[in-house]
Amino acid sequence: MKSNTSLPVIMPQVSGQQWSCHSCGDCCRTLVGDLTDEERAGLDAHPWEEKLGAKPYVLVGRRAALNKRADGSCVFLDDTNRCMIHAQLGEQAKPIACRIFPFSVRRVENAWQASFRFDCPSATASKGKPISQYGSWLTDLAQQLSQDSQVIKPETLERGLIATQEELAIITSRLSRWVKEKKLPVHHRMIAISRVASMLYDAKLASVRGMKLGELLDIFWQSAIHEMEPPLLEPTKRQHAMLRQLAFVHAEFVTLQELRAGFISQMKKRWQQLGAARRFFSGKSTVPALQGFSGQTTFDVVGAVSPASQTEEIDELIERYLLSRTTSRSIFGSGYYSWPLAAGMAALTASVSTIGWLARLHCAQNGRAQLQLEDVSQAVVVVDRAVTRLPAVGSTAERARIRYLSVEDGLARLLHRYAIGEETT
Ligand code: SF4
Repeated sequence: MKSNTSLPVIMPQVSGQQWSCHSCGDCCRTLVGDLTDEERAGLDAHPWEEKLGAKPYVLVGRRAALNKRADGSCVFLDDTNRCMIHAQLGEQAKPIACRIFPFSVRRVENAWQASFRFDCPSATASKGKPISQYGSWLTDLAQQLSQDSQVIKPETLERGLIATQEELAIITSRLSRWVKEKKLPVHHRMIAISRVASMLYDAKLASVRGMKLGELLDIFWQSAIHEMEPPLLEPTKRQHAMLRQLAFVHAEFVTLQELRAGFISQMKKRWQQLGAARRFFSGKSTVPALQGFSGQTTFDVVGAVSPASQTEEIDELIERYLLSRTTSRSIFGSGYYSWPLAAGMAALTASVSTIGWLARLHCAQNGRAQLQLEDVSQAVVVVDRAVTRLPAVGSTAERARIRYLSVEDGLARLLHRYAIGEETT
């Protein structure tokens, strides 16, 4: 195993975010636990197949991943929600993908950039120790990752234009400041960011480098704030349809069983997905089944759900989620499917309307008509699980969809229509 002792870990700066593992076992039921070659050899050296009555890991193409039972849970998860590797051989023997969750790290220039995930109940509820206390623990884990297995890609502001470290810091600090702008309701902050993104699509960034980029962003932000006054129009039918499709794409998480399914099963699944995608586009009658959501409801009922009236905890959750994205540099470039800055910033705001729609789905499926914290938490879990991880979310088709929504103020209209909380200021 190669060592990266000299490389520091850059932690996400999310004020108020706490986390400790409360052993609920959710991650062992929902995530695919990738293995390094050494971890695979370690599992081979132990009589796990005999003890488990199943193979300890499976191959998915060239990847090796911890095996799952038919219900999707890891084969090492016991009846008391404990990991058998942990129980029998100690925590150090567990695969690094399991030990590091809900953090992850990726190589950036001269450092490891840490990210924090929200698809853990203790993360969404912010329960445990401040995440800032995990820096040295993550540094130790990052040292165990192979330097060669990580690809360092430069951050691209737009085609052919690489961002400098100074520019990355400028963008991160501006976005984080806007996300925390308490004078505006959360969805107004996002509307303003969506308009900054629209202006960035038309800007020639090659002529505003370094500090000038910060000045340009400030001008765009001020202009976006001043545009807030006239009431926003209702989204067009097509904008509504595109948001429903975004929600569908985010919730189509691929399970290990689906990854390993044979050609015929994969084709069948693809056919079902096409049918569901068409129904999400049309928005008529019953909402097709989505992962992470259960219960029947119709698109009309989902659309009629009102924003939450108790917004303090919900705003705080959305703010933590967005800060985690901005300060882990998961907005554009190598942190977001190699998308340029304007597209990545627009996608950030689209993920908030997607949360707004999926939260309404969860609410409607539970027979309620007004959003609550539990609806928003579930939507954040689903969106965060998909963003930067699902290839479909970063596809060319999705990038074109986001571009389409950023014209005619589509992203702003959708953010307003699917606002998560009522306006209180
Ligand atoms: S989902 Fe979170 S709290 Fe639950 S076992 Fe995994 S890390 Fe621990």
